[in-house]
Amino acid sequence: MKEPKRYRYSSNGPADTSRLAEHLARLAGPGSVIGLDGDLGAGKTAFSQAFARALGVEETVNSPTFTIVKEYEGGRLPFYHMDVYRLSAEEADELGLDEYFYGTGATLVEWSSLIGELMPPERLQIRIVHEGGDARTIELEPHGEPYAGWCRILTENGVLTS
Ligand code: ADP
Ligand code: MG
Repeated sequence: MKEPKRYRYSSNGPADTSRLAEHLARLAGPGSVIGLDGDLGAGKTAFSQAFARALGVEETVNSPTFTIVKEYEGGRLPFYHMDVYRLSAEEADELGLDEYFYGTGATLVEWSSLIGELMPPERLQIRIVHEGGDARTIELEPHGEPYAGWCRILTENGVLTS
């Protein structure tokens, strides 16, 4: 497969990160999957909260570290929020994550790199890099369609740089 292209977004604070999440939530559909990586405190949960709000989820979205997966209904699409930090690959396998990935909702996976090949081949990978203070560089790597298309649209709209 071709090397995925890399796109970037500069965030200078939580509001900027929310704005990117809102753009992506607008593009999301049933079966959309976004993997989120970055150190503790990078902003993965902050991104997830903004994404959920943009889908119309009214419930408070917290880090699902202990529950692994949380499902939110009531938005434009079901929203599945995962945090796989405490999960072994074997446990992840047993959870049957594909039911979520290929279901009717949109899924965000915090610490997605830890479950490697259990992530679906077609997905958007996002890495949030802490640059000190409130600055973050957000790198986006689309794997397949429709994610490559999302990144092209957001680049044309001046949201992302390639
Ligand atoms: P993670 O889930 O990656 O461990 P959290 O989202 O829980 O991180 O925490 C990120 C913290 O950093 C929040 O308190 C958030 O308000 C703060 N923050 C500061 N600047 C930013 C930014 N540019 N983007 C996202 N969060 C930021
Ligand atoms: Mg988190």
